[in-house]
This record gives sequence, C-alpha cells and structure tokens, in this order.
Amino acid sequence: MKLICIGRNYTDHIKELENERPTDPVIFMKPDTAVLLKKQPFFIPEFSQDVHHEVEILVKINKVGKYIDEKFAHKYYDEIGLGIDFTARDLQTKLKEKGLPWEKAKAFDGAAVVGDFIPKSEFENINNIQFHLENNKKIVQKGNTSLMLWKIDALIEYVSKYFTLKIGDIIFTGTPSGVAKVNPNDQLEGYIENKQLFSIKVK
Ligand code: ZN
Repeated sequence: MKLICIGRNYTDHIKELENERPTDPVIFMKPDTAVLLKKQPFFIPEFSQDVHHEVEILVKINKVGKYIDEKFAHKYYDEIGLGIDFTARDLQTKLKEKGLPWEKAKAFDGAAVVGDFIPKSEFENINNIQFHLENNKKIVQKGNTSLMLWKIDALIEYVSKYFTLKIGDIIFTGTPSGVAKVNPNDQLEGYIENKQLFSIKVK
C-alpha cells in the first residue's frame, strides 16, 4: 500500500507558505510505515522543532488502474476519508532550499494520520465536501473540496499516468490554509461535515 500526496492544491495554502502556484500537481509519496497506528498518539520526532498539521481529504482506491481517464476516475474509489499529512516544516524548508526531496520531512514514521472513511454514496457532491480540524477544541483549519485547484477525479487521472494505482492505496489531496505547529498535549480532531473521523493526541 502506498500513500500518494498532493502538495499545493489550495490557493490559500499556497499563499500562506509563499509558494508558487504550480502548473501541474505537486506529488510526493509516503511509505506504509508512515501510517500512524490506530489509537496511538503522535510523537513529535526529535529531529524537528516545527512539525505542522496539514488536514487533508483522503481517497481510498478500490481497483487497480493505470492511465485512468478523468471521466472514469469515479469508478476507482468508493470511500472518502480525512487525515493529516504531518510535516517537519523546518526540515522541509531546508530541503526545499537545496532542491532536495522532501521525504525526511514528510515520510517519517507516524507522519500520516489515516482516519475513518465514509462511503462516497453518502455525499451529494464530492466536489463540495466541508471539512475541518480542531486543536484542543478550537477550529484551526477549514476547507471545502470545491476549493481544490485539481479536483479528486483530475488528480486520479494525473497520478495514474505515473503510478499504477492499487487496491488500498490512499491519495492525500492537499491541505487548505491554517497549517501550524503541533505541541505536546495537543488533541487533534478531524471532521467531515459534523462527523469526527479521527482524534489524535500529540506527545
Ligand atoms: Zn499536505
């Protein structure tokens, strides 16, 4: 199982990190060892002083596919979820400056929260899903899939040109603005509409 992550997919987040607006989706991967085990706390790794939360809509692939046309992309998933792409921002900034890959900052153990999934059929329109992240009961990030630069089906088309999608693969679709540092004792709770899909303690 692989985690395929999209960067810079929301304009407001591109602005907050002063990144350039991409002409193609920005893609990186996390290995399966990055998935935070269920009911486990997230331990801030010793190599970072500035780990950020990035709440993201997840898409779970249910069929093997390659070169999937956007028109048919909806046949390759039937569940939508929510997760966190934890990012060691201090390390990522250094790697970006040197033009190096981001894996050390993004793909470390525990860096991917995969919350519960909801059947796609429960949504009227997957391109209009509200989601948010609370930290200690305060809303810190809020998004809607309508604001994605590349919508879910377009991402599947793009990603599957490069990588064969397999059953169980998960696409992290990018974060809206509001990314911020996590601290010990934070309690991170993710919601789609009013449904809680994960609750993570930071240590
Ligand atoms: Zn992200």
